[in-house]
Amino acid sequence: MYDIAQVRKDFPILNRMVNNVPLVYLDNAATSQKPASVIAALVDYYEQYNANVHRGAHTLAMEATMAYEEAREKVAAFINAPSPENIVFVRNTTEAINLVAHTWAAERVGAGDRIVTTEMEHHSNLVPWQHVARTNDAELRLMAVGPDYTLDLSDLDELLSPSTRLVALTHMSNVLGTITPVKEITEAAHRVGARVLVDAAQSVPHMPVDVQEMGCDFMAFSGHKMAGPTGIGGLYISPDVIDEVEPFLRGGEMVLEVTYESATWNRPPMKFEAGTPNIADAIALGAAVDYLSGLGMEQVREHEIALTGYALERFHELEDVETYGPTDLSVRGGVVSFYMSGIHPHDISQVLDSFGVAIRAGHHCAMPLVRSKLHVPATARASFYLYNTEQEVDVLISALRQTMEYFGDADARQAR
Ligand code: PMP
Repeated sequence: MYDIAQVRKDFPILNRMVNNVPLVYLDNAATSQKPASVIAALVDYYEQYNANVHRGAHTLAMEATMAYEEAREKVAAFINAPSPENIVFVRNTTEAINLVAHTWAAERVGAGDRIVTTEMEHHSNLVPWQHVARTNDAELRLMAVGPDYTLDLSDLDELLSPSTRLVALTHMSNVLGTITPVKEITEAAHRVGARVLVDAAQSVPHMPVDVQEMGCDFMAFSGHKMAGPTGIGGLYISPDVIDEVEPFLRGGEMVLEVTYESATWNRPPMKFEAGTPNIADAIALGAAVDYLSGLGMEQVREHEIALTGYALERFHELEDVETYGPTDLSVRGGVVSFYMSGIHPHDISQVLDSFGVAIRAGHHCAMPLVRSKLHVPATARASFYLYNTEQEVDVLISALRQTMEYFGDADARQAR
């Protein structure tokens, strides 16, 4: 296990005071903090070798191109993609999913076909499929969330009909922390000839992820949730499907030959990266991958399992607080959504801020799940990362106790 005190020193922002108390950052599911090495990679690029990639023969252009493509190699190795060719740099998970929706799915999901997703998706992995289903006259079906907050696979065989073209599911819910059995679902989907897209926005940053072992066709993730910068993310496209995917954006860089009448496409991944890419942030994502690999993703996962277990124990000491998500830590990530009767989650979040504690309140971009499955208008959510400590959980719990005192007991709150 890594030395947490040492790790915390790598993240300059963790020294910050908020409202005259030390910052306790527990909003990692929204975005993670960045180590100094990632920030340095950004500065180094802009100070030393800022140039456009793939175009110039001058030294700076070659250095930038090398660093950009090296970052792609690092990302590919991190998720065990067969080749860097299978990694497309995009802005974020949302863009990665939309790329697949607007290209592969737009062309290959026809009238009467079926797309299967789940009841625990982030809007990013629901709304694009609603659009494809509506425009192509296809059917959108949902895998249910069971009472233990895991996916109910009992009707999987019925959902995976011969007309199912795509299964799009999250690897880890950003509301419940549920880790889904993607490998099992992928195998079942492939048996009926369906493709599988995995939303790995919450898994790639927090646990070892191996796309070949998982067997998925597409996987989307965001750099900013994995100690990297904002504005960069990845789409993995498997060798099995990559030739079925048409370009999303058309223009410079993605072409091979252009006449006034027509054009031919470059090889992947260039085929999917029209225009000047986000060079600096891709290179810094490479630095983030180096950082995470240095710690070891098994260790990161172990740390978060221990911390989540501790947090849940401490949460259960609080009366009138409901937590959501699986109790089995082997299928749960470091996310604790909770609800205190009679106190709006936004009020909790605001009071916690006065104690330096940053959490999130709302529907977490999973409005249907929160409203129709958890039956609350919103939840508060504490989410952990590799640098969080039990002490910070203690600060959170103590701040929550004071929040409850501030708002009065449950009866008084309800009466208000
Ligand atoms: N899917 C999941 C499960 C997420 O948690 C998030 C971010 N909250 C997204 C997709 C969207 O990520 P981004 O905003 O980086 O596109």
